[in-house]
Amino acid sequence: MSRPKLVVVGNGMAGVRTLEELLKRAPERYAITVFGSEPHPNYNRILLSPVLAGERTLEDIVLNDFAWYQDHAIELRTGCRVDAIDRSRRIIRDATGATMHYDRLLLATGSLPIMLPIPGRELEGVLAYRDIADTQAMLEASSRYRHAVVIGGGLLGLEAACGLTLRGMQVTVVHLAGWLMERQLDETAGTLLRQSLEERGLAFRLAAKTTALEPAQSGRVGAVRLASGEAIAADLVVMAIGIRPNTALAEAAGLPCRQGVVVDDTLQTYDPRIYAVGECANHRGQAYGLVAPLFEQARVCADHLAGLGRLHYRGSVLATKLKVTGIDVFSAGHFQADPGTEEILFSDDETEIYRKLVVREDKLIGACLYGDTDLGPWYQELIRLGVDISALRDVMMFDDPGQTSKAVAAPQSAVPAPAST
Ligand SMILES: Cc1cc2nc3c(=O)[nH]c(=O)nc-3n(C[C@H](O)[C@H](O)[C@H](O)COP(=O)(O)OP(=O)(O)OC[C@H]3O[C@@H](n4cnc5c(N)ncnc54)[C@H](O)[C@@H]3O)c2cc1C
Repeated sequence: MSRPKLVVVGNGMAGVRTLEELLKRAPERYAITVFGSEPHPNYNRILLSPVLAGERTLEDIVLNDFAWYQDHAIELRTGCRVDAIDRSRRIIRDATGATMHYDRLLLATGSLPIMLPIPGRELEGVLAYRDIADTQAMLEASSRYRHAVVIGGGLLGLEAACGLTLRGMQVTVVHLAGWLMERQLDETAGTLLRQSLEERGLAFRLAAKTTALEPAQSGRVGAVRLASGEAIAADLVVMAIGIRPNTALAEAAGLPCRQGVVVDDTLQTYDPRIYAVGECANHRGQAYGLVAPLFEQARVCADHLAGLGRLHYRGSVLATKLKVTGIDVFSAGHFQADPGTEEILFSDDETEIYRKLVVREDKLIGACLYGDTDLGPWYQELIRLGVDISALRDVMMFDDPGQTSKAVAAPQSAVPAPAST
C-alpha cells in the first residue's frame, strides 16, 4: 500500500528539525518531499555570523547534507519555491508550474527581513542579512570596499557589524533606539556593550533615524543620510531592523494569518491537513524569531504528524545570546522592571560584570546579564518553571555556580541547580 504523502515547504531549521523528530517516531509513515527556495541543503542559519566573522566555513554549517535526504528516502527539491496551495484539491504548485498532491502539508517558510521603505533601498550594495546569499554578498563587498553601515543595533545587526569589522571594513551602526539591543538589554547593559564594541573599532549613531540611501557616482550605494542631516560614507548597507513571518503562501490559500500562520497547541492550522512550524507560525498570539522555541514546536508537531497525539506546545520563554566572540551578553524573560516588580542588581566596574534579575511575587521573571553569562541558562529555567525563589534570593546572584548549587540544594531540593554543575 502506498504511503500518505507529506510535503514540506521550507528546507530551513524548523521544517527539517520537524522531519528529524518525525523520523525518530514514525520513519516509515510518509512519503516525504521537501521544497526549499534556497539552492542548499539544510544549514544552521544561526552560524552565518561565525561564517561572516571568518570563524566557520559554509561547509561547517551544513546540518543535513544531500546524502541525509537520500538515506531517509526524502525527495529534496532545492532552488524550488512553492507558489500556491490548492486546499480543496490538496495540491501545491511550484515555481516551474509543476503540481504535487499532499495528504499532510507542513509550512516552514520562516521570515522575511524588513527593508526600510526609504529612497535608495534598491541600490546595488544594499542588503538584508538572512541567508547564505546575503552572507556571500557581504564577504564579496568586504573584499572590495571599505565603508559599511549597518542599520539596526539588535542581535543580527551587531553580529553583521562585528563580522564586517573583522573582515577589515570600517563599520558604523545606525540605531533608532537610545541604546543597543534595547529589546533584550537594559540601558546599563546596552551601554557596556557599546563601549566594548567601540574598543573593537565599531562606530555608533544612536537615537538616529535613516532617511535615505544615496548613490555614489558608480551608481552603487555611496552614503547613508540621517535625519540629523549627517551623511555617512557607505559602500555596503546592511539592513537588520527586524523580520516578519513569511505568510504570503498561506494567506493566498485562505489560511487565517495574524503576524504568522495561526496554529493551535498541536501546531495545526485551521486546515487539519496543514501544519505550520517555525518563524512563519503564530501560536497564542506570538511568532518567535529564535531557534529554541522552533525546536520545541518541531517536537510537538512531529508527535502529531506521527499520529501519536501526546504533546502540546504551550509557548516558550525566550532567551537571547549575542554570538560575538569575547563579548558575553544574555537576556531572558521580562528584563525591564515595572510596577509590582523588584530588581536584584549586581555590578562590578573592574571586571565589567553586570547582572540584573527581575522578580515578581517571589518568582524570577527576567534576567539581563553582561560580562559573565554562565548562570543564564539556570535563570532561564527558573523563569520557565516559575520557581519560588524566596530561598534563593541571597545566593542567586553569586557568580560561582558551585556555591550557588550547594546553597540551593538544602533549602529547596526541587529547585534546579545551575546547568554547569
Ligand atoms: C544571521 C542570523 C543569525 C541568527 N542567530 C540566531 C541566534 O544566535 N540564536 C537564535 O536562536 N536564532 C538566531 N537566528 C534566527 C534563526 O536562524 C531562525 O529563528 C531560524 O532559522 C528560523 O527557522 P525557520 O525554519 O522558521 O526559518 P528559515 O530557517 O528561514 O527557513 C525557512 C526556509 O524556507 C524557505 N522558503 C520560504 N518560502 C518558501 C517557499 N514558498 N517555497 C520553498 N521554500 C521556501 C526559505 O528560503 C528558507 O530557506 C539567526 C538568524 C540569522 C539570519
